[in-house]
Amino acid sequence: MSSVYSRLGPVTILTVFSLIAFRLADSQQVPLKVFISADMEGVADITNWKVDSQAGTRDYTQARRLMTLEVNAAAGAAFEAGAAEVTVADSHGDFINLDPELLDSRCHLVRGWPRALGMMEGLSPDTAAVVFIGYHAPEGTAKAMLAHTFTGSMTLRLNGKPVSEGSFNSAVAAEMHVPVVFLSGDDQAVADALANIGPIETVITKRALGFNAGVMTSPATVQRLIHDGVMRGIRHRGELHLSPPITPITREWRFNNVTQAELVSYLPNSTRVDAYSVRFSVSTMADGYRLLSVVDLVSSASRE
Ligand SMILES: [Zn+2]
Repeated sequence: MSSVYSRLGPVTILTVFSLIAFRLADSQQVPLKVFISADMEGVADITNWKVDSQAGTRDYTQARRLMTLEVNAAAGAAFEAGAAEVTVADSHGDFINLDPELLDSRCHLVRGWPRALGMMEGLSPDTAAVVFIGYHAPEGTAKAMLAHTFTGSMTLRLNGKPVSEGSFNSAVAAEMHVPVVFLSGDDQAVADALANIGPIETVITKRALGFNAGVMTSPATVQRLIHDGVMRGIRHRGELHLSPPITPITREWRFNNVTQAELVSYLPNSTRVDAYSVRFSVSTMADGYRLLSVVDLVSSASRE
């Protein structure tokens, strides 16, 4: 009587053993956590600043629904890719936009302002992958829809280099050694991400014709593309690495308004570089985010 092993043959036995080993390793893996930071300007069909208002406008009501559906597409893909936990940080305006009744009920929602890590609040070092939804190009980008950096009217430099919200936030993730795997937004937001974050998965939600105009892709198509892109990004997360920023980290804000720079220069440890620019040095991106929130608030007190 031949044993089961001899009937199976060496190759099959090897396959069986490697399958068992794979299953064991798989069952020992820590639960997969995915973090989604969702902004609004880069969501499909969002074209103007009316979306920024909570005044109950027709545009805002639809915008928050479109934003929530794009987040759901990303979250659904994350769960399909094996995520045990998905945390979503509502990261537009006052950080209260996503419709909690429409949002995928399996998600944890980070909502409200202020919060220490801003658009990245809820991210922890045991997160496996970061996803950016509805992102936009930085302040000063030509022909980019709703391009700005944080509260706008300013250019932000990180270690001397101008950054978008996407590349700033990716440095926060890099400091925790978590890869950013996906970004969606208009064509200029995507170009910025590929140039400054790395070869991540991206989806172009619309092609900019100007600050308030663009050629739209239908929301249903964009949501399908986001689903597929997030899935690919999470599967390939092991290939994506970003170096944390070199410390100490310098932050330099260039405002379009002298009074804003004046006010911000009153904060401790600042250096007034010129009439419009103020520089700070911090030891971590997390410290820098707290500073950013205060600078945003102080500078917006004198916005014209
Ligand atoms: Zn933004």
